[in-house]
Amino acid sequence: MRICIDMDEVMVDNYQRYHQLFEEQQGRKIDPKEYYGKRIYDLPGIESMRDELRNPGFFRDLPVMKDAREVVSELYEHYEVYVVTAATEFKHSFTDKWEWLEEHMPFIHWERIVFCGNKSIVHGDYMIDDKVSNLRTFNGTGLLFTASHNVHDTGYHRVANWLEVRDFFRQERAAEQASEG
Ligand SMILES: [Mg+2]
Repeated sequence: MRICIDMDEVMVDNYQRYHQLFEEQQGRKIDPKEYYGKRIYDLPGIESMRDELRNPGFFRDLPVMKDAREVVSELYEHYEVYVVTAATEFKHSFTDKWEWLEEHMPFIHWERIVFCGNKSIVHGDYMIDDKVSNLRTFNGTGLLFTASHNVHDTGYHRVANWLEVRDFFRQERAAEQASEG
C-alpha cells in the first residue's frame, strides 16, 4: 500500500514563517481569521510575500507540523510511504527541502522522495495533500489535510491534523486485520 505525502502545509508548518513575514512587512500581527478561506498571501497588499518563496533558505528552516514526525514514522513502518512535493517552481527549494527532510525525517530513504512539478504523474493508493487540485488528478484515495485555503472544499475525506491521519490508518489496518480473520 503506497501513501504519497505532501510537504508544504502538511508535513511542514509554513504558517509561522508567513506570520513573521506579515509582521515584518505590515508592522502588526495577523489573526488567522483574516485569511480564513484563502491563502495568507492572497490578502490585498501583501502579494509580494509569495516572492519570499524564491529566496534560498526559505524552505529550509520551517517548523515541522505538529505530530507529523511521529505519525509519518508510524506510517513508514506499515506502508510504502513516499514524500511527494512540488519543488520545481522554486529552484532553491530542492536543496532546502532535501536538507529539511534529512534533519526532521531522517528515517525516510532518498528513494522515497519525489520532487516534482505536476503531481498527476504520481500513482499510489493514498495521497495526503492540502490542495484539492492534487487530489483531483490522483488515481487513489485523497485525504484533504485542512489548511486555510481549503476550508470550503468538499468531496474528500478531511483530516484536520496528524493525529487524525494516524487514526484513519490505524482504523484501516484494524479493518484489514478483521477481514483477514
Ligand atoms: Mg501542500
